[in-house]
Amino acid sequence: MSDNVNPFAGIEADSLTACVHAPQISRTGFKAVSVATERASTIIFPDADAYARRNDGGLEAYSYGLHGTPTRRTLEAQIAQLEGGRHALVTPSGLSAITLTMLAILSPGDTVLIPDSVYPPVRDFADGHLKRQGVTVRYYDPCIGGEIIRLLDPTVKLVHTESPGSTSMEIQDLPAIAEAAHSIGALVSCDNSWATPLYFRPLEAGADISLEAVTKYMAGHSDLLMGSVSVSDTELYKRVVQSAKHIGFGVSPDDCGLALRGLQTLALRLDHAARTGLALAQALQGREEIAEVFHPALPQFPGHSIWQRDFSGASGVFSAIVADELIDRVPGALDSMEIFAIGASWGGTHSLVAPMDLVSGQRSATAWPYNGPVIRFSVGAENPLALEADLMRFCDALGKS
Ligand SMILES: *Cc1c(COP(=O)(O)O)cnc(C)c1O
Repeated sequence: MSDNVNPFAGIEADSLTACVHAPQISRTGFKAVSVATERASTIIFPDADAYARRNDGGLEAYSYGLHGTPTRRTLEAQIAQLEGGRHALVTPSGLSAITLTMLAILSPGDTVLIPDSVYPPVRDFADGHLKRQGVTVRYYDPCIGGEIIRLLDPTVKLVHTESPGSTSMEIQDLPAIAEAAHSIGALVSCDNSWATPLYFRPLEAGADISLEAVTKYMAGHSDLLMGSVSVSDTELYKRVVQSAKHIGFGVSPDDCGLALRGLQTLALRLDHAARTGLALAQALQGREEIAEVFHPALPQFPGHSIWQRDFSGASGVFSAIVADELIDRVPGALDSMEIFAIGASWGGTHSLVAPMDLVSGQRSATAWPYNGPVIRFSVGAENPLALEADLMRFCDALGKS
């Protein structure tokens, strides 16, 4: 290009290209302990032929940033490994991991069975979206176990489970449910966000699909949203990946990098949460202001024996019911806490508390026998003794005085 056709007056023409194209540098001798955050929408190909064949490379190939860069693939490989599965796919939120699974598996005329204790937005999705698509949605008692066989008919294509149940904490007998579901050829999904694959491995207990809200313990710092779908069956994995492509789900490499960082301390954080959570649940149990404590590691907890059989630990999320006559004092008691912050979500390094409403519209197959909110606690990485003092402050504020 001759100087006189340069339309950029005042810019030396070659500097345009020099600004755009960064030089290649040597990577010899460089190796970091952390996984690099590799951002890309476009992935470039060595030649026209490679571009033409870009979709023929199978599951490992790179074609477009929406379908993953090495950062996301590394995270997926690590999650698959932790789950004891062959494949994992990350999604933009924990909720989307569940809805994607349902969309990938269910067609008009099919039935999905969902536990009555399900994470409430899943109920909203099933009632508001799946029903409109001609899918029959039926809720079941989460404690049903092998008796679920009575609810199964040839239209049932998916039995969803979540153990323990959101806030109400019912432990499900996944091996018994999976055996019954498989006897009629239905698939079984399990929302494992509470235990994480470190304390329970749904794929080994009979589920076909293990779902995690990576947002919670796995990422672990209350600053990103992500979900994961893990499976062992390659055909099922391809079906889920295809649906994610149809919908256009993408997950940012930056978030994947943060999740990889979070995973490094997952075992350490869970261990702290487990010990502290059980100690706090025991302390609460001793208080007269508290009517019930729902924590699977407490021997009195109804699902304790199944938890003990199937899980290798309890994370730091548990809940409590306040004595009936003190329900009016709950807002003031929550405000009196100094370390536990009031907020949704859980599984981070900061302790959180949230009053959850299970009374209105959250149950359809079973009765919820308690009045007032269920108080959900998520134990963070702070000093256990200071957290216990904070819980006692909560109880004192509830107290008659
Ligand atoms: C929070 C949560 C989800 C959803 O995770 P998001 O990333 O917030 O969408 C799913 N299941 C359970 C049990 C949860 O607690």
